[in-house]
Amino acid sequence: MAHIIDGKKISTEIKDELKAKVELLKDQNITVTLAVIQVGNNPASTVYVGNKKKACAYVGINSLSYELPEETSEDELLSLINELNQKDDINGILVQLPLPKHIDEDKVIRTISPSKDVDGFHPQSVGALSIGQEGFISCTPAGIIELLNRSGITIEGKECVIVGRSNIVGKPMAMLMLRENATVTICHSRTKNLMEVTKRADILIVAIGKTKLINKDYIKDGAVIIDVGMNRDENNKLCGDVDYDDVFQKASAITPVPGGVGPMTIAMLMKNCVDSIK
Ligand code: NDP
Repeated sequence: MAHIIDGKKISTEIKDELKAKVELLKDQNITVTLAVIQVGNNPASTVYVGNKKKACAYVGINSLSYELPEETSEDELLSLINELNQKDDINGILVQLPLPKHIDEDKVIRTISPSKDVDGFHPQSVGALSIGQEGFISCTPAGIIELLNRSGITIEGKECVIVGRSNIVGKPMAMLMLRENATVTICHSRTKNLMEVTKRADILIVAIGKTKLINKDYIKDGAVIIDVGMNRDENNKLCGDVDYDDVFQKASAITPVPGGVGPMTIAMLMKNCVDSIK
């Protein structure tokens, strides 16, 4: 039977540690400020932005909201980012994705100053991670490392299989697991015999966006299962990429959805904001 890795509890621990750091900074008259930009009113984005602002309030980070209309032009958005880049009293800049179709996301990401790139999506941040230099790390993969470390799960020397190769989860996850000295395999939609590969994993990290695709046939006995997926099942219930009930007896540890990886993403965003003071 699997140990349930409690992301909600671990994320609260991290936010409490950050809260204490922010208080110490305040004693030195240093305020941490995050600028949060949302373009349009995609309902899911509004929920994510709301949760991030709530976490800022909890930790003591000042959050400034920029709620721009859907028809905002790319130039207008880029000039706002350039303006925020110049401001010494803004430490982090977050642009909630996805952006409306007429705006080039890649250009927006590249315009954010790497020193304020708290999402860790800028090519400079990604490059720094791949060559082992300091820089902001994408929040979801960074959160997964914290989940493993704080649950006492050794990474070094383990066979780690990551399913999914997106720029925000799969690829940075692979780099981080390498940094932690795991032996890393990355799978994707063109992987042949996925099941054969995932069955090798001591630690299996799944980020594909396919409801309950991974069942007990895909895992070996005693594997640690990290489920990044956030999907809705046929009853509109939130669920992951892993069939939790099916793998539960076979895995040694597992993250639930919700309450696993999700809360960690926000906690690590808060960590990046506090680190931006450096
Ligand atoms: P993307 O859609 O960007 O990437 C999905 C990846 O999965 C691709 O690399 C794709 O392969 C691969 N893939 C898709 N289907 C299969 C399959 N049948 N077999 C093997 N590989 C497959 O997704 P994201 O990485 O952005 O997100 C993945 C999931 O994680 C989503 O459910 C998302 O909602 C969730 N998520 C959750 C977060 C959290 O905080 N909990 C944060 C970010 C994401 P290919 O490259 O070949 O197309």
